Amino acid sequence: MSSEFQNVAPEQIDKPAGEIRHLILPERDLFSRRAERFRQLAPGHPLGEYLDFLAAVADAQQQALDQIPEVPQPDPRWSASCHSHGIPLLNVHSWQRHSAWQQGLALLLQQVSSDALPGATRKSISSLQEKSEAELEQIADLILSGELAKVSPRELPFVAAALQVYWLQMATALGEAAFGRTEHGGTCPVCGSLPSSGIVGSPASEQGLRYLCCSLCAAQWHMVRIKCCSCEATGGINHYILEGANGAVKAESCDNCNSYLKLLYLEKDRQMEAMADDLATLTLDMLMDGEGKSRGGPNLFFHPGTD
Ligand SMILES: [Zn+2]
Ligand SMILES: [Zn+2]
Repeated sequence: MSSEFQNVAPEQIDKPAGEIRHLILPERDLFSRRAERFRQLAPGHPLGEYLDFLAAVADAQQQALDQIPEVPQPDPRWSASCHSHGIPLLNVHSWQRHSAWQQGLALLLQQVSSDALPGATRKSISSLQEKSEAELEQIADLILSGELAKVSPRELPFVAAALQVYWLQMATALGEAAFGRTEHGGTCPVCGSLPSSGIVGSPASEQGLRYLCCSLCAAQWHMVRIKCCSCEATGGINHYILEGANGAVKAESCDNCNSYLKLLYLEKDRQMEAMADDLATLTLDMLMDGEGKSRGGPNLFFHPGTD
């Protein structure tokens, strides 16, 4: 299996923290830009139909974001308590999410629903539309605690998409200044989730820096390069690319904890987008799986054990 990889040498360590922008929040048009990227990737891609479907989901996320009402912000006592304990303000495990996320889900399902969808997908949409609030909260709890395998793989992307809309709305309404740093550099300073991938060369930062992209709220936070995002080891880090690929997407693996994270190098392709390009490079995940490595953070739209 290793013959299918080209192992590339680690790069230089970044400059010291302090001069560096720590957090970059997503723009409010993120989902429409993501939809555009999915549509760009779909033609001629082996997963083209799936990517087109995801473009429709991202469009529906944008519609939902534009239409759901603004919800109450954390009160100052909550903010102070989070800051003093180093807990992200919108932590998935402690922040009491507002039921508005379910309004977002209803809007999203309505928007994405189309006779052109395969029967099984239409059935999942109807099944979600019939679920009680309590049942939907249970699915949300499973997703937010990382138990993606316990959620129906056909329902997962819709519920995860609605949770992304809600968290992005909250994060952007609060603004970057509301969020401090977290103790563990591998988790999102906004919501405490794991990253879905990393970006090197974000246009919002200085060139060459690495930002991790939150799998839930799409915030990006700085993390020095050549350091495992899961266990923070600095030795035994290797980079892999698919043979024949242009090196725009690499998997950075760690020998210490056997995890890996995909890194998108924007200097090679400025059109790349964290979520879309992660889902368009599932072949790299399959090959890393063959190497005995597992993802250091999820993509909330699928679980590796399902097809
Ligand atoms: Zn986040
Ligand atoms: Zn590690």
